[in-house]
Amino acid sequence: MIFCNRTLNLKKISHIGLDMDHTLVRYHVDRFEQLAYDSMKEKLIRNFNYPEEIKKLKFDFNKAIRGLVIDKNHGNLLKVSRFGSVREAYHGLKRMNFKQQKEIFGARYIDLRSDTYDIIDTTFSISHACLYAQLVDFKNHNTKLELPDFADIAEHLHKALDLSHRDGSIKNHVIKDPEKYVKRSEGVVRGLEKFKKYDKTIFVATNSDYQYTNHILQYAIDPYIDGHPWQDFFDYTFTLTMKPRFFYSSLPLLKVDTVDGSMKNWDKKIEKGVYQGGSAQLLTDSWDILSDNLLYIGDHIYGDILRLKKDCGWRTGLILEELGEEVKQNKAAEALTHQIKEFMVKKVQLEEELNDLVAQRLERNNPSKEKEEEVHKKILELDEKLIPIIKKRAEVYNSDWGPIMRVGVEESYLAHQVEGYSDIYMAKLEDFLEASPRHYFRSFIRNSAHDE
Ligand SMILES: [Mg+2]
Repeated sequence: MIFCNRTLNLKKISHIGLDMDHTLVRYHVDRFEQLAYDSMKEKLIRNFNYPEEIKKLKFDFNKAIRGLVIDKNHGNLLKVSRFGSVREAYHGLKRMNFKQQKEIFGARYIDLRSDTYDIIDTTFSISHACLYAQLVDFKNHNTKLELPDFADIAEHLHKALDLSHRDGSIKNHVIKDPEKYVKRSEGVVRGLEKFKKYDKTIFVATNSDYQYTNHILQYAIDPYIDGHPWQDFFDYTFTLTMKPRFFYSSLPLLKVDTVDGSMKNWDKKIEKGVYQGGSAQLLTDSWDILSDNLLYIGDHIYGDILRLKKDCGWRTGLILEELGEEVKQNKAAEALTHQIKEFMVKKVQLEEELNDLVAQRLERNNPSKEKEEEVHKKILELDEKLIPIIKKRAEVYNSDWGPIMRVGVEESYLAHQVEGYSDIYMAKLEDFLEASPRHYFRSFIRNSAHDE
């Protein structure tokens, strides 16, 4: 299924760009994250002198979801609404109850642009969020161990994760055993072939280097194309693009020799092949197309989509892997959602009845306290019935955090970003490739509060 925020006519799209990791190529995210988690822990002990005891911490993929916010100075993990108000909060692994949340955050909106917050906007940050919460908890339970403060823990985790990506601690494992980590898909290759028949130029723009890209695409693409290597299957491939920088500044462009992997500076017009670096501007200039003839699909809201939308005006598609599961969960929760709505209708009626009785007593001097108490009791009884249904509904989703796209009646901050920056979004690339390359995606009419 594909969801559409802004009308998109594929007939007008001549070039389709794809991010590689988690977009063109899907991973077994839980296994991939386990690697990141183990590597971060090891680096914290070795490079940042964390105590050996943290080795005992175990990765729990369900401890965090995409869209959460790390409140670095205070050791909190937050789920935030589209307006930036905190709707769910944990200090380390300890859930804050409604009263504590209210005391700390009140009704104010938090400014997510501030660098005291880290947004977990990819599935490959789950290990990061989980380990942060565990380390905060570990610090609180081991006061004698003199662990760094909450903000420093966040900083060290960032550095440890960066290092793990740079020194091959994660990628070498994937290269050695791709079957364990990569979800190969013939459907992606067949779908891309279909789009190519409609004269769509297909290119890859990835932050991974050539060596890793080559290993992964050899494994994921080559088995499904006859006789030709992946380098010939894609019209252009840009490696080590440093997105989001790729979208707003220019990196030196190098041409990769696909036989020996060597590179040379390239200042001529780009021709079909594999490159390193470059910029979004360079592509549209070389191909002589308008920015809205180009659709770029990626999985990272900030790295792939947000800056691209702001700086280049390309059309955008977002891969949100969790969406497949969440749509199913919404279906599973439908009956309970309906029950909650029915209860709320009754509750609103009783509240209005109570308001009338209070008005009669205060405005028309007609004392009717007894009746008021009776209605008030009915409201409390209704709440008693409502609470277990709400709880049961929450259990359909992640038990700590609920769905990724909603917080109560509001959209989550993540949903707000998805809506703001992606023209279309889907759970996986195959969903897009099943559509006709001439398809016209139309957005639905959105209601404002006054539209009824
Ligand atoms: Mg990616």
